[in-house]
Amino acid sequence: MAYFYLRFPEGKERTVTFSYDDGCPQDLRFSDILSKYGLKGTFNICGDGLRGEKTIPKETMEEYFLSRGHEIAIHGYYHRAPGRVRPIESIRDVLDNRIEHERKFGRIIRGMAYPDSAVSFFTDANDYETVRDYLKKLEIAYARGGEYNDTFDLPTDWYNWKATAHHNDPKIFEKIEKFLNLDFTKKTYVGSLQSRLFYILGHSFEFDYDNNWDRIESICEKISGKDNIWYATNIEICDYVKAYNSLIFSADGSIVYNPTLYKIWFDINREHYVIEPGETLHLAY
Ligand SMILES: [Zn+2]
Repeated sequence: MAYFYLRFPEGKERTVTFSYDDGCPQDLRFSDILSKYGLKGTFNICGDGLRGEKTIPKETMEEYFLSRGHEIAIHGYYHRAPGRVRPIESIRDVLDNRIEHERKFGRIIRGMAYPDSAVSFFTDANDYETVRDYLKKLEIAYARGGEYNDTFDLPTDWYNWKATAHHNDPKIFEKIEKFLNLDFTKKTYVGSLQSRLFYILGHSFEFDYDNNWDRIESICEKISGKDNIWYATNIEICDYVKAYNSLIFSADGSIVYNPTLYKIWFDINREHYVIEPGETLHLAY
């Protein structure tokens, strides 16, 4: 019997992702910065009916987001906080946004960032369990909230995914330093060998408001270019972790079968293992 640890593609222990909301024009410049540093991000975009003339044209979004490997995700057609409106209104806000994106871009779109006060505030008509329940029925894969979790742990609840930091977090450089220096060779406690995530959120219009494009450039420079980090979009991380969680084991853990279409890495006793789609491995550990 041993502890198994998820590893990201190529056996990496760390992943980094970005999540930027609202679909504002500054997203294009931000996309240039992400791509310059080989980073991946998720752009959470509301409905055309809300953004009106400010909507970034479809072809531009395809060029700056999709063709560069970034993700387009849902942010509520009219940016309605699920906790503040009746469930039926929020359901429509999510579904209309999803259908519009999917028809426009001709692809499946299942990621989401909650708009407004996310799931940190509820009126009498609503509660978190209700929101999570209808998002599952709307086949949303994950939803990012507005709260933070700086433990670098992967989410345990995909419907309240907490980021590590906002880009204006005064301690962000300290946190990045700590993340880059995590030591996966020493076992200090059981959780210390878990793979870790650094998740940065914000709105790209804030770089203009705060006149701090240099700050995000420094953040991207510092966290990029590392062989031991998997740079991925939110949905790529979500899908990979869910694939790992779909591995099927024998009762004593000595046989593992991969029923997914993902090549999956994991560690046992600090040894890397990799299992191909459809493969069964007999583990000797
Ligand atoms: Zn927003």
